[in-house]
Amino acid sequence: MTVGITCYGGVNEIGGNKILISDGDTRVLLDFGAGFSEGLDYFSSGIEARRVNGAGDYFEFGLLPELPGLYSEDALQNTDLKYASPEIDAIVLSHYHSDHMGRISLIDQEIPVYCGETTALIHKASSESGGSSLDGRDVRTFRTGDRFRVGGIEIQPMHVDHSIPGAYGFILQTSEGPVVYTGDYRFHGPMGSMTDDFIAQAQMAKPLALITEGTRVSAGDRKQEMGESEVAEQTTMLLNANPRLVFSSFRGNDIDRVLSFYKACQATGRRLVVSMKVAILLDELKNDSGMKVPEIGRDVSVYLRRKGKGSYDDADYYKWERRFLDHSFTAEEVRKQQNQVLLHLDQWYLPELIDIKPEKGGAYIHATTEAYNEEGEQDEQVIRNWVGHYGFEYHQIHASGHAPMEKVGDLVNRIGAQKVIPVHTARPDLFSKLAKKGKVQMPVKGKRMSLSLGT
Ligand SMILES: [Zn+2]
Repeated sequence: MTVGITCYGGVNEIGGNKILISDGDTRVLLDFGAGFSEGLDYFSSGIEARRVNGAGDYFEFGLLPELPGLYSEDALQNTDLKYASPEIDAIVLSHYHSDHMGRISLIDQEIPVYCGETTALIHKASSESGGSSLDGRDVRTFRTGDRFRVGGIEIQPMHVDHSIPGAYGFILQTSEGPVVYTGDYRFHGPMGSMTDDFIAQAQMAKPLALITEGTRVSAGDRKQEMGESEVAEQTTMLLNANPRLVFSSFRGNDIDRVLSFYKACQATGRRLVVSMKVAILLDELKNDSGMKVPEIGRDVSVYLRRKGKGSYDDADYYKWERRFLDHSFTAEEVRKQQNQVLLHLDQWYLPELIDIKPEKGGAYIHATTEAYNEEGEQDEQVIRNWVGHYGFEYHQIHASGHAPMEKVGDLVNRIGAQKVIPVHTARPDLFSKLAKKGKVQMPVKGKRMSLSLGT
């Protein structure tokens, strides 16, 4: 059997996908992410893997595979794994979320990274505003409709809907037959039909194996199904009902969420004020022909934090920030117009409230997933403390980036692959109930599976 599938991450965990497809001499890695819960036994409570030690701190606890011909010389400096020239032909990236690309910075720069055109723009914005895991890489872009070849494997990227633009699944034509990889997906976002497009293509390919995510596959996925359009509706209602400042934290690269809040602002005559990082991303994404994003200045404003000696001296801002200075709101300006603003404030910027001094009675929108571990619960409690301190209401308005359990089952059965490999899920065992067709094979971290049935 010449074709093998080996999962080095995303096994019994949400995120951290690192899936090696080998076909004869060709070796392709699908994603190379950092898991959310990965290494929490060792790296939590403020203890972080040291950047200076490259892959070393991860190897110590088996958090990264010790594969020859994968890592850069720098990353291996202080490890027992000897540097070897690349034995991996390409990294194929599904989307720009850290649980899919967060460890790419350790990989040999000679190995090309294939990603969507939109992902390359997100990378550019991140790179300019502080750094990106794709910095210094040989980045090669694709769009839906393209096909590209890596050694003996032909790869067809196909768009899916997820909580970041430019998300893809893939159909890989290997020498033994087709393999499908979903990346992360949902159906209830504004572009939910893209996931249906993906399924249609995948189904036509008659795949031997389907590698699918299952984030929300769990014994009790009772979370209310809210679509992104409901996020806009509920936010509009909240803005209408509350005559004071409303602010929210959310993942800044979730452009669907930015658009939902922008729509709610348009409907209620409020001004959306975003962080600098969102501003540079919007500025970059206006170059994407397939997207329509609000324009900085005309449609949205940018929140300006004090810097340097505590004033707003232009010289204290980074060069990339300066282009937004003319379209900015200071804390004082937010205070003066607090009933006319919807402020995006990342959780680590909460101390800005000390400068803003909002009137009591405003509202906070928690627009991220609910906490899934103790650390997350602690973070959430800290936010609640801040919100309570300022006498604000706490609201949760959020649409998940992932399909609910039954929709994952739908996808599996519609694609109808002979073999189903669940990744990016804490409950791969539940897939045998979901899959009406095909045989579920539970991946074992680092263990090669063959493409054919029975092994
Ligand atoms: Zn993910």
